[in-house]
Amino acid sequence: MTSWSRRLNAADRRPGVPSRPGDKDVLDDAITAGVVDADLAALRALVTVARDHQGFRTRLTVVAEADGTRRDLEVEVTHRESGPRVRLVDGAASDAPAAAEDTGDGPAIVDVLTHTMVETPDIVAVFSSVGHEALWANDAFATRIPVRAEDKIWLVELLDEWSQGHYEVKVLPALVTYGRWRGRLTLLTGDGELSCSVVIVAHRDRRGEVEAVSMVAREEAGGPVGPAADDASAKFAVLVESAAEIILVCAPQGAVQYASPAAARLLGLDESAEPELDLLSLVHPDDRPGSLLDLVRPDEQGVGVPVDLRLEVPGEGQRHLEVIVSDLTDNPVIGGVVLNARDVSARVEATHQLAERAYTDALTGLPNRIRLLDRLDRLAQDDPGAPVAVLMADLDRFEGVNERLGNEAGDEIIKGVAQRLAAAYPAPAVVARHSGDQFVIVLPGLGAEPEALREAGTVRDVIGRSFEVDGGTVELTSSVGVLVGRGFDAEEALLDVGRALAQAKETGRDRVELFRPELAAAAGRRQTLEQHLRHALDNDGVDLHYQPIVDVATRAVVCAEALLRVRDTGGQLLSPAELIEAAESSGLMTRLGSQVLHATAGQLASWSGTPGVPQAMSVNISPRQLSDPDLPKRVHDALASAGVPPEQLWLEITESILISQQPTVDAAISYLRALGVKIGLDDFGAGKSSLGYLKRFPLDFVKIDRSLVSGLGVDEQDTAIVRATVELAHNLGLTVVAVGIETEEQLGILELLGVERAQGYLFSPPVPPEDLPAVAPAG
Ligand code: C2E
Ligand code: MG
Repeated sequence: MTSWSRRLNAADRRPGVPSRPGDKDVLDDAITAGVVDADLAALRALVTVARDHQGFRTRLTVVAEADGTRRDLEVEVTHRESGPRVRLVDGAASDAPAAAEDTGDGPAIVDVLTHTMVETPDIVAVFSSVGHEALWANDAFATRIPVRAEDKIWLVELLDEWSQGHYEVKVLPALVTYGRWRGRLTLLTGDGELSCSVVIVAHRDRRGEVEAVSMVAREEAGGPVGPAADDASAKFAVLVESAAEIILVCAPQGAVQYASPAAARLLGLDESAEPELDLLSLVHPDDRPGSLLDLVRPDEQGVGVPVDLRLEVPGEGQRHLEVIVSDLTDNPVIGGVVLNARDVSARVEATHQLAERAYTDALTGLPNRIRLLDRLDRLAQDDPGAPVAVLMADLDRFEGVNERLGNEAGDEIIKGVAQRLAAAYPAPAVVARHSGDQFVIVLPGLGAEPEALREAGTVRDVIGRSFEVDGGTVELTSSVGVLVGRGFDAEEALLDVGRALAQAKETGRDRVELFRPELAAAAGRRQTLEQHLRHALDNDGVDLHYQPIVDVATRAVVCAEALLRVRDTGGQLLSPAELIEAAESSGLMTRLGSQVLHATAGQLASWSGTPGVPQAMSVNISPRQLSDPDLPKRVHDALASAGVPPEQLWLEITESILISQQPTVDAAISYLRALGVKIGLDDFGAGKSSLGYLKRFPLDFVKIDRSLVSGLGVDEQDTAIVRATVELAHNLGLTVVAVGIETEEQLGILELLGVERAQGYLFSPPVPPEDLPAVAPAG
């Protein structure tokens, strides 16, 4: 054993490097048993055969001589993965090592393996990193290669010039990428060169870094590779071992000097002719370097790092290549820039498709919100001064369609709307599905508001054409928000156009609303109100004032309307109507509504039986509260916990919720009336009131809005409407309450018209509960 193969004894045991060679000879048992020299030589020959031939197993009888007596011994020689094994078949001596090896005992296998490595006539060495300092070498290495154990040898120093280039261009990338390389290299020996068939394997640490490489080189017939073959084409033929590799040798400015068969196929070159091509001219302009040398990217270990290049191949389209570029311009054999490439187009395409899916709405195939934001961003970046119109359309009362016809029919309609809009607005317009039943249409170049409003009208017409679903016909209206401007921030633009849309919906739906900055201010105000409301809800800051409702005939206080009073942290009273709006849009309404119901019920309970105070209470119920399926239970619980009979509670609902035709609303009204609670319509005459709703829904009372009352005796039309309303209400058995009575004259007219109840500043503004009995005028 040479000093080289012992070198590992002195070194630290490094992971991935074979352990210390054992002292045990594979023939030790045979030697101990006294096998005669001639037979030992035969066994040695068999060991050599067993080492290289998988499945090898043979038994033979040999002669052993001990203490002057000769005897026959049966010996078995087998190939094992850990190295050849020699076992005395009926000899006790053979059992121990055999058993150790059979149980897979680590050190025994490593020892045998290392021993094999030491013994093999192949040149074996282990180098740190990707070929740095040699850590270990076997006897064959030490014999053939004239180096001293203490010298620091790098793998490339053992190679001739051609092999050095080859190591850099082919071997290193293969080791880093695949962990192994097999091929031919020429090793320098003391007195010449050795053409070898070589296997190099990379050993990685836990992080996956190449920590060491081991090389096994076997001398080959056929002479040295590289320099021995003089003409350049032969050198290249060796360089390009495999026809599957895409290899190009180019001048730094791109002129192709050599293309491997695979490269020629990729570029559509005639394989047999000299290539006449400027590679750089095919590179996508965004990826194109000034010189190919700019693409040489070695990492700290000197290994080429792949770069991505897009090539526009004539007749083929775009190909994506992963290329390792090496500068071998100084190499006398190559004299150019070498590109080792992999065509990764399929992988890039698959990745692209996955990304595409993340940006596309699955149901309609339209761009989704993420892609929409991206498009808007890009428009603003590409030309910040160019005008853009953004339309956001929402299908009116689409929840009702889903509830009535089922989600599948709902999906069909959404798909239909998407197809119609996409057909009506081809590129460069962008049609995207923003969310559920909301679509956004971006119209680049459109900057005039009248024109944008006209487009919004077109969008509504497109959506408004009837849909055939499940054998029936569905007709939809839509609300559209419109934003016109330039250089938008994408998120901001969608928020603003959403505000315009919300405004269109709040003011009756089935219409178009243009974004105005006041809408953004209103949104900001709503947010501040929401913060105040949250604070009030958490800190007992929600108060109620009560406004008496009097019997017109007797002037007795028969009821009181509970009205919300919340102050901001500075003590300023906040508008109840705005607070309700903020609560509705922020999801706080249910919580707020419950507090109001419990406070009102508590107040009624505390007044119970007290003369001169109202024995019934009117409470406003917002649209969101009424569509909450738990509302009946909340009302019941509030009354039950205070011990108040349901007949004392009057609930005021608004028309808008009735228009939405939600089945849950019908059910809630029926349930509450069955409980004994009175239900009435508030603000009648304030909006698009329709006498039809009075007929369609089972109600107990109707409240005529202040706006109509203020016209009594002044505006003939208002007086006529009040008269008609009172007549119809009475025909339907409803009680009529008039709100906002400020003058005796108004009261007089209402009395003449037969209105039963009145509420207004004439009697009292809303007041804190403790003030109510004092101000209530006695009948
Ligand atoms: P509303 O239900 O129509 O309530 C009547 C509103 O008219 C009250 O305004 C009241 O102060 C006002 N009012 C009554 N008589 C007169 C009068 O003679 N002249 C004038 N100028 N105004 C009069 P308030 O308290 O500001 O409430 C506004 C709206 O806020 C209410 O309108 C109601 O829709 C909503 N609201 C208030 N409290 C609640 C609540 O607890 N829940 C819900 N959902 N809505 C509430
Ligand atoms: Mg009211």
